[in-house]
Amino acid sequence: MPIGVILGFASALLTALVTEIYAHRCLAHHAFRVRPAVASVLDTYFRVVVGTDPESWAAVHRLHHRYSDTPLDPHSPRLRRPATVLLGSAYLFAKAKLRVPADRPKARWVLPLRGVVVFVYLVAFGPLQVLIMFVVHLVGYLGIMGMVNTVGHLYGSKPHPHAAGYDAAWLAIPLLGHGYHNSHHAHPAAARTGRLDPIWPILRAGAAVGLIDLGSRAAPLDTHATCCGAFTSLVHP
Ligand SMILES: [Zn+2]
Ligand SMILES: [Zn+2]
Repeated sequence: MPIGVILGFASALLTALVTEIYAHRCLAHHAFRVRPAVASVLDTYFRVVVGTDPESWAAVHRLHHRYSDTPLDPHSPRLRRPATVLLGSAYLFAKAKLRVPADRPKARWVLPLRGVVVFVYLVAFGPLQVLIMFVVHLVGYLGIMGMVNTVGHLYGSKPHPHAAGYDAAWLAIPLLGHGYHNSHHAHPAAARTGRLDPIWPILRAGAAVGLIDLGSRAAPLDTHATCCGAFTSLVHP
């Protein structure tokens, strides 16, 4: 198997994990806190690889929770064609990002750092493998995001009838805990989405070594806010 495929798959998985753990559960839902050093690493990774700041991602996601499956939902497959939500995550995010305030000014260091990363990969693996990696990364990462937004709102059971989305436990592992999407909409601040949530052991391990504080901030969440709080308020002082 070409090394570009392996690197692209690994990169997509790592980026999906950072998105789910940091931008989604930590920043958007305040389900736990992370140490400032951890936050800095994840913030830098997210900005360089995903290409936006994690606060904007979190703010757009809160729009989804606030307006789930209504015309103001940024990516409801019930009001748009499911194929558009499945394949158009980047486009729908860019449109929704215009509706939320910019939390921080654009960082000037992102582009140069991204250039350095690409240069290192080009030197190490050559242009063809880097191109393969890029394509596999995009398909994998946006595929996971699109699947969550599409399948999670169309198929499965509804243990919480008042909340949006559906549960399909068999999808919990490939969708990083979002097989319990209805449960997530019902309890968005929960650090664990369900029994088969693959993120939960990672959070437990992070808590065991002192990188994550699972306990003290687990409860309150204002799902009606359109933007998450200040970055520094979400990490240990
Ligand atoms: Zn949802
Ligand atoms: Zn959420």
